[in-house]
Amino acid sequence: MADPRPASILVLGGGTAGWMSANILKQRWPDTQVAVLESPEIGIIGVGEGSTPQLKAFFDSLGLAERDWMPACHATYKLGIEFRGWSTRPGFERYFHHFPSQVDEHTAAAFLHACSGRREGLALHGHPDRYFLNARLATQRLGPHPNHNFPFLVSYGYHFDSYLLGGFLRDFGTARGIEHYEGTVAEVELAESGEVAALKTSDGRRLAAGLYVDCSGFRAVIHQQALGVCFLPFASNLYNDAAVVMPTPADAEGPECQTVSTALRNGWVFRIPLTHRNGNGYVYSSRYCSADEAEAELRAHLGLTGSAVNARHLKMRVGRVEHTWQRNSLAVGLSQGFIEPLEATALHLVLETVWRFVDAIEGNGDIESRRQAYNTDIARRIEGIRDYIHCHYRVSQRDDSEYWRDCARNEALSPSLRRVLEAWFHGENVVREIHAQGIQHYYTPVSWHCLLGGYGTYPDEPQLRPATAAETRWDLRVIDDFVARCALNFRSHNEQLRDLADP
Ligand SMILES: Cc1cc2nc3c(=O)[nH]c(=O)nc-3n(C[C@H](O)[C@H](O)[C@H](O)COP(=O)(O)OP(=O)(O)OC[C@H]3O[C@@H](n4cnc5c(N)ncnc54)[C@H](O)[C@@H]3O)c2cc1C
Repeated sequence: MADPRPASILVLGGGTAGWMSANILKQRWPDTQVAVLESPEIGIIGVGEGSTPQLKAFFDSLGLAERDWMPACHATYKLGIEFRGWSTRPGFERYFHHFPSQVDEHTAAAFLHACSGRREGLALHGHPDRYFLNARLATQRLGPHPNHNFPFLVSYGYHFDSYLLGGFLRDFGTARGIEHYEGTVAEVELAESGEVAALKTSDGRRLAAGLYVDCSGFRAVIHQQALGVCFLPFASNLYNDAAVVMPTPADAEGPECQTVSTALRNGWVFRIPLTHRNGNGYVYSSRYCSADEAEAELRAHLGLTGSAVNARHLKMRVGRVEHTWQRNSLAVGLSQGFIEPLEATALHLVLETVWRFVDAIEGNGDIESRRQAYNTDIARRIEGIRDYIHCHYRVSQRDDSEYWRDCARNEALSPSLRRVLEAWFHGENVVREIHAQGIQHYYTPVSWHCLLGGYGTYPDEPQLRPATAAETRWDLRVIDDFVARCALNFRSHNEQLRDLADP
């Protein structure tokens, strides 16, 4: 059988998606010629500074230790996301969506039990934060690496400077044989078969390869512009289509190890702590507020009204391409699509898209059925994440603007999300529903419970009755003690960051 791996790959785009893709492909297929072409005139989007735990797996796969890249990218650890002001229900004004840890298995059952009891009207503690170690670590600003005597792993992601990370991955990749070209593509040459034959630059060069990876950002030069792959917008589910970003100085007591997401009148603001600054951005819907209004609201939120700090405005194209792998082109990053950055999943999808593509190429069966199975799998993954994010808006019940009232009224739910919500509100077994749909690979049942429980989507307080001892089943004081004692095994985030610079 002929070797299915392409002999040559040309990656169009030198943003984070382009350099991540090139590095993975070169690492997995060392004999393949891999090149990156990027346009210095166009540049990169230069936002996107929070990750999921998948980024750690990426660096591990390249054999890179944290001390090799984190200080160079002003990176910090991320234990999860704190949501503030998304729910107006008393006692649920904030909650933490944690990345999992191995000790969660001792407490998750108690949390799920409390959620289902409270849904049925028992006054059980249905807020997630007290049940999970990462929430406690983030509150105490403790880093994710335990002392040697605590043999349990904590999952975590990172925050990083996206320009520095792109440059780091470029240097790492070119030192390992990835070729790097600068130039702007003026034309995508198609063969009679409809495949991409070459990319022609504005200065007259013609670059050809067996496989093209379109990482050209929202421009989607190959996949959408040249091959005409259909773009399926998510505008009916997710209203946000713009952002305004602005840095603030680093916290005096050192960076937090969590992203903070605060709901405002027409969207929400992220705060991403790096070692040298905080990255802030207001993600909003241009249907409900102008760019100037958004900037004014962000400045007021940050205490920067009247300050000379520059704001940067961005448009977001939210949706996905119909087929990620089309002919001899693979769309990765913003050219593949974008779900707004609420759960910082864009780079996560970059990694899943490329890793699974490599597996599909190396798999068995005829290539057309592998392509179809791959495209279906990736589309489901993207929509699974979209639904989880959509749920944040649908159940919010904030009532301070037309934007939030419309979000709460939005009936454009996917069948999958509709069923999860029906199961939650009708007292059904939500864990079973999530597994029956097979969506636990995108967000686990615990994540769904954190979201719905963290918002306090339960019967109102006066309708709850005290639970008997048998109904309570778990003693919350024992759980508090367990989580607190686990946390004693972790040193401060600041110390763990210092270890990286000075191992
Ligand atoms: C407000 C906001 C917040 C975000 N937050 C997060 C987050 O927290 N976490 C996360 O994972 N993601 C986040 N994202 C998404 C993240 O920014 C992107 O997924 C990531 O930066 C990768 O972008 P990219 O490489 O696909 O595109 P870009 O960075 O735009 O790169 C495109 C590349 O293509 C090149 N190019 C384009 N056209 C041509 C041409 N004709 N010829 C040659 N080269 C060309 C450009 O020069 C550039 O090198 C966020 C996005 C936004 C808008």
